[in-house]
Amino acid sequence: MKKYAVIVVDMVNDFVTGALGGSPRIKSIIEPIRDLCEKARANGIPVIYANDCHTPEVDKEFKVWGPHAVVGTWGAEVIDELKPQEGDIIVPKKTYSAFYETPLELILRELGVDTVVITGWQADCCCRHTSADAFFRGFNIVVPKETTDTLTEEGYCGGLEYIKNIYGGTICSVKDLF
Ligand code: ZN
Repeated sequence: MKKYAVIVVDMVNDFVTGALGGSPRIKSIIEPIRDLCEKARANGIPVIYANDCHTPEVDKEFKVWGPHAVVGTWGAEVIDELKPQEGDIIVPKKTYSAFYETPLELILRELGVDTVVITGWQADCCCRHTSADAFFRGFNIVVPKETTDTLTEEGYCGGLEYIKNIYGGTICSVKDLF
């Protein structure tokens, strides 16, 4: 039997309504992610938030995106609609992948997880890079299609196709899980 963990990538204020926010496409994934997290918690499946948490003047990513999700600010906090619950885990990250220079792999190994359910923003950037690092480390990858998106339909389809074709990810729906 698969041992799952749900990973919620970058559902922080700055991506939804703050510095880099405003895309109607991110609004549409909030409810499906909430439903999935509730289902996961009810089934004893860990919910892990991987949140951008940047240091100004240091993190190179600002050259590409401009300032966002600055450590200690409202912009770096998970949105109210998806507020972490007791027992959830928060992993701050400095760049696209939730694994890169973070304790995520250790946490997953200690929990005995073999399959990561990757959700959040953006399908063709942080979710895709997180999938790459999950694949390199031998985790199975599942992406419920209504729990991720990006700025354009083309980017969304391309992101999911890439995760499926290159990392062997399973694309499914929230209703198919647990
Ligand atoms: Zn960032």
